[in-house]
Amino acid sequence: MSTPRQASKLIVFDRDGTLIRHVPYLCDPTQVELLPGVREGLSQLKLAGHKLFLHTNQSGVGRGYFPIEAVIRCNEELIRKLDFDTNVFEEICISPESPQQVMAYRKPSPRFGCELLVRYRLAPADMCYVGDNLTDLLTASNIGCQGVGVNTGVHDLDHELTQAGLTDKFAVCQDFAQVTAWLLQTMRDSA
Ligand SMILES: [Mg+2]
Repeated sequence: MSTPRQASKLIVFDRDGTLIRHVPYLCDPTQVELLPGVREGLSQLKLAGHKLFLHTNQSGVGRGYFPIEAVIRCNEELIRKLDFDTNVFEEICISPESPQQVMAYRKPSPRFGCELLVRYRLAPADMCYVGDNLTDLLTASNIGCQGVGVNTGVHDLDHELTQAGLTDKFAVCQDFAQVTAWLLQTMRDSA
């Protein structure tokens, strides 16, 4: 196992509404549309030495709406559109469970994040979850890692955080450029 550089942090992104436009139960790669600033932002974060991951809840699989292969094809289209020379994501976690099924990796389960921390031998402070949904930030809360929201999905994240009593705990950015600036600053300060 390779030992990651000390400055390297683990940044775990949600997919729908965070990196790509939110389409309910997306299963058609032709509907994959990068959100503004995502390509540039991920490029800057990689250049800064951070390791990027994708963690996406896809209950459409568990509900029987589409097979997991459709999710994989959409992920591949996202990666193709990002057009990086190297593999942009170190690992991808697809959680196919529906809310009614036993939760394994479905956010807000901390399982994927905790496994990464063990594998990379890092502390929760070295990880950040990024997403457009309260669930993404609850995942961060369950892991005890950092988290930042982005208001580019279908939810009113500020309202959801207020309802959950978590406004003091997580910052909410208005677009991906803001998320990138926040991550570059925060992850440097916590180095
Ligand atoms: Mg989302």
